[in-house]
Amino acid sequence: MGPTRRGILKTVVTAAGAAMTSDLAQAQEQEHDHSHQAVPSDLTLRVKSLESLLVEKGLVDPAALDALVDGYEHKLGPRNGARVIARAWVDPAYKKRLLADATAAIAEFGFMSQQGERIVAVENTPKLHNLIVCTLCSCYPWPILGLPPVWYKSAPYRSRAVIDPRGVLREFGLELPEDVEVRVWDSTAELRYIVLPERPASSEKLNEQELAALVTRDAMVGVTKVTLSQSGGAA
Ligand code: FE
Repeated sequence: MGPTRRGILKTVVTAAGAAMTSDLAQAQEQEHDHSHQAVPSDLTLRVKSLESLLVEKGLVDPAALDALVDGYEHKLGPRNGARVIARAWVDPAYKKRLLADATAAIAEFGFMSQQGERIVAVENTPKLHNLIVCTLCSCYPWPILGLPPVWYKSAPYRSRAVIDPRGVLREFGLELPEDVEVRVWDSTAELRYIVLPERPASSEKLNEQELAALVTRDAMVGVTKVTLSQSGGAA
């Protein structure tokens, strides 16, 4: 590391330290998984210094970066996934396409981006419950679920979802009967999953839009079911 880069890193550290209130630092700690250090991780610092350099040299427009981040945070959220699930519930032909080739079926809605090049949909049934994890890091189907929640990236979830999936589900409030098989799917950078939850009982009169409003992010990860009393997906 040359003196220039050291200087940049030092500037970034100083600026970050000065700007962060304790609340913000805490939020960042929660947002960035894997560790609980008080200062930003090495990777965060590298990204910040790279961003500073690119902006300083006029190679990227900060507004363009903000727009990209905003897109991932607000436009590629779980509402997209909820629309896909509701369509599958009301349109058997679409459901068939979704289960055969989820990437293509999801692209029918125009939902495509990085972090979702290949997506597989796994269907819950009365006798089978699917649960999604990334044991290695935090791979997640961004185009349809947005950014992964903090718990999804946490070490306890990543390890325990595989070792004791029923215990994890219980902590999310989902107690499954012993005769329901639980299948855990380990995501990778190349292959990500979405759960097609069971359509809730007594929802026959709801239209596609109303059904979509019931589908939560957590149900599409497989840690909860969809029920009539749910509304939207909590952050
Ligand atoms: Fe990962």
